[in-house]
Amino acid sequence: MELPLIEIKQESLDVKSFKFGLNGTSFNFKPGQYIIMKLDVIDERNGVRMFSLSSSPTETGYIMISTKMTGSNFKKKLESMNIGDKVDIRGPFGRFLLQEDHSKTAVMLTGGIGITPFRDMIKFATDKKLNLKIILLYSNKMPEEISFGKEFDEWQRINPNLKVVYTVTRPEESKMKWEGVKGRIDAAMMKNNVKDMENSIFYVCGPPAMVDAMVTTLKNMGVSDNNIKIERFTGY
Ligand SMILES: Cc1cc2nc3c(=O)[nH]c(=O)nc-3n(C[C@H](O)[C@H](O)[C@H](O)COP(=O)(O)OP(=O)(O)OC[C@H]3O[C@@H](n4cnc5c(N)ncnc54)[C@H](O)[C@@H]3O)c2cc1C
Repeated sequence: MELPLIEIKQESLDVKSFKFGLNGTSFNFKPGQYIIMKLDVIDERNGVRMFSLSSSPTETGYIMISTKMTGSNFKKKLESMNIGDKVDIRGPFGRFLLQEDHSKTAVMLTGGIGITPFRDMIKFATDKKLNLKIILLYSNKMPEEISFGKEFDEWQRINPNLKVVYTVTRPEESKMKWEGVKGRIDAAMMKNNVKDMENSIFYVCGPPAMVDAMVTTLKNMGVSDNNIKIERFTGY
């Protein structure tokens, strides 16, 4: 599909969201899925990147992706596009989907840019008033790197099933004051926030090294493979 860029929004220090208008075209996807985007850029990946959708199917008329502005040629091209410019998008793809069994808690573990599919899932669960308990543990180096913070705070207010815990690993490097939770997501943090580990499904998303470290922690805590879902952002 060729979809026009309709909005660019700065979400945090180095993350921007890009919205693409559907102009009446139907684009059916499930929360957690991703798209493949091709830009007219010459690089070792032929100008192709995968992006989880950060918008929810309940946000109609457009789709949104959110990405870290790394300074790569691909990202520079994306950033320099004008509103109305068209982009080649294929999808949706992926099996990193929200559980259908709402009797178990969905525990979402991520850091940095790995937040994107969780914005999609949480917005969906909130709009649909799903009877699904969700706990999001979201880690960033500094508070100014937290994306979608205002939205998550608002959704926590209206969705009694949602709990969001922000943690910051290097508050001393920030100009902002941080009085919240500090440190990496580890076994102790999970035990503090997840009452019923056995009755939970764990979702882990982010750069491969982060996903692997988190899965090792979960397995060491006795969580079975069946209760772990992962999405690796290869290319970080
Ligand atoms: C399922 C999925 C969902 C994703 N969702 C998001 C998202 O929501 N937001 C987001 O920002 N990113 C997401 N990514 C990662 C995204 O596709 C890019 O890889 C990432 O944004 C880095 O791109 P870049 O242009 O900034 O860096 P690049 O210029 O691509 O450089 C990053 C690194 O990737 C290496 N590399 C080179 N070729 C390849 C290749 N063929 N495959 C993998 N790595 C290669 C480079 O050597 C370099 O070290 C996702 C990836 C996957 C697989």
